[in-house]
Amino acid sequence: MLRTHTCGELRLQHAGQAVALCGWVQTIRDKGGILWIDLRDRYGVTQLILEEGVARPELFEQARQFGREFVLRAEGKVAERAAKNDKIPTGDVEIRVERLEVLNSAKVPPFTIEDNTDGGEDLRMKYRYLDLRRSPVRRSLELRHRMAQQTRAYLDGQHFIEVETPVLIKSTPEGARDFVVPSRMNPGEFYALPQSPQTFKQLLMVSGFDRYFQIVKCFRDEDLRADRQPEFTQIDCEMSFITQEDILNTFEGLVKHLFRTVKGIEIADLPRMSYADAMKYYGIDKPDTRFEMRFTELKHHSTNLPSQETVVDLVSGKNFPVFEDAELVVGIAAKGCAEYTRKQLDELTEFVKRPQIGAKGLVYVRCNADGTIKSSVDKFYGEAELRGWAQAMGAGPGDLLLILAGEANKTRKALAELRLEMGERLGLRDKSKYSCLWVLDFPLLEYDEEAGRWFAMHHPFTSPKPEDIALLDAGSLGAVRANAYDMVINGVEVGGGSIRIYNRDLQEKMFGILGFSREEARRQFGFLMEAFEYGAPPHGGIAFGFDRLCSLFGGADSIRDFIAFPKNNAGRDVMIDTPATISDEQLKELHVRVATEGKK
Ligand code: ASP
Repeated sequence: MLRTHTCGELRLQHAGQAVALCGWVQTIRDKGGILWIDLRDRYGVTQLILEEGVARPELFEQARQFGREFVLRAEGKVAERAAKNDKIPTGDVEIRVERLEVLNSAKVPPFTIEDNTDGGEDLRMKYRYLDLRRSPVRRSLELRHRMAQQTRAYLDGQHFIEVETPVLIKSTPEGARDFVVPSRMNPGEFYALPQSPQTFKQLLMVSGFDRYFQIVKCFRDEDLRADRQPEFTQIDCEMSFITQEDILNTFEGLVKHLFRTVKGIEIADLPRMSYADAMKYYGIDKPDTRFEMRFTELKHHSTNLPSQETVVDLVSGKNFPVFEDAELVVGIAAKGCAEYTRKQLDELTEFVKRPQIGAKGLVYVRCNADGTIKSSVDKFYGEAELRGWAQAMGAGPGDLLLILAGEANKTRKALAELRLEMGERLGLRDKSKYSCLWVLDFPLLEYDEEAGRWFAMHHPFTSPKPEDIALLDAGSLGAVRANAYDMVINGVEVGGGSIRIYNRDLQEKMFGILGFSREEARRQFGFLMEAFEYGAPPHGGIAFGFDRLCSLFGGADSIRDFIAFPKNNAGRDVMIDTPATISDEQLKELHVRVATEGKK
């Protein structure tokens, strides 16, 4: 070995020892008679010192040639420092250098390799290998490593077998576009990269593997949104002879294990919430439950009820057209915000009116600390009504009611955004706090107006709840609930799965409902349906978004720093510069013709 210790290892107890260290030059400080070099490696930083009268003069001359990021080997003796640095673990010692060797020189890096770098995102991505030298990025990847190791340890302990499934497959319909790979040997034919190993893990259950897992790359050619990667990693799992309850317990166990071993946090049993309640109280199927601020409906025409009757109504009959015409009037109470200024309220109004959110306006009620109550709709509503609203919303003096109205689904969505915004403004979304829950009983199907047909909310292999199969037969498709579940942490869907269909007839029927012809279903999924005829056990599973889970554990917003070599928002790897064109020869070999219109 070129070194005796790492740059993070030496302490006072090593004083007097002769050591050799290797690493990169972090900084050089030259005070004439005394020169320091901070030497860095993955494990830390150690100070090297040259002192006039102690170190040989040639050493000074040599050291003055070094630049940042030179790769050095230094030999010397460990000594106690005069001025200690309590910010780093090696801060009590320094190395009195006796020999220096340049292992490699370095160009001046395009940004400084420091925790708070001056490098912009683009530059850091172009030189990702330098960015990865920075401690915060390296620590994120170390966290990822620990998460992966602990995932394996837990699942292995639960008798899960890690199996690799193929990367060159046929498309599986999971709602996104496939990346495809042309086959040279089969002209005109293509492989698809897996959006998930869904059908393979189900086949492994038919094979009797009983418990499968894989930490696996998945690929989805989706329109790019901030922080979405075209390739990402899942902890993918499947189990046989289980009920939904077993899956929830097993994977609640995984997440508790990860929190315990990686973060030293004991988390409580995960509360469970139905999809219907999540939508009703939080307007979203992945509620951030770090804070309450639940929705209160002031008026709701339930379209699910045959009579269209009004279930609650604290607003009608006062000639306020916005509320008169609304299907849903719903609000939140923001604690202690009654004194929001006009400007702050205008900001919130602007916020909900942004096209992405799409509300037409915002009604507010100030429950003032002095007991008076004032609203933006005083023209229509008297004190008694406003107090009625405040009471329904559990608001007291000092609180601010924020109310939206309109078509039910849209209004819920908009209020969900406003709730998160208020949570942010009130500092209720602390990244070091974790609130986990299960969301259960998702609808099996959702209707897409544009496509004019039903889609599987999770995927086509998800089983309806047995007690809802009658509804399926009766054609009440929207009312059928699935044995499907999501794990949500801090408003992020970190995992989702379902109990599967394992009966050929039901699977075939499901494909029919989803608009597949018999032919098509057989062509695409004949292998799976046939497998169901050879003794398929009842089974179910789940997959966790591993990158996202790591970023949550790391308390970060972005998943990029938890991926060694991520793509940018346009789906490009700017370091290796891809996607890229390929030669005409390659194209020919692959039997691919490219539309060159508009290009050179
Ligand atoms: N394959 C599903 C997904 O990728 C997860 C599952 O149902 O196990 O979302």
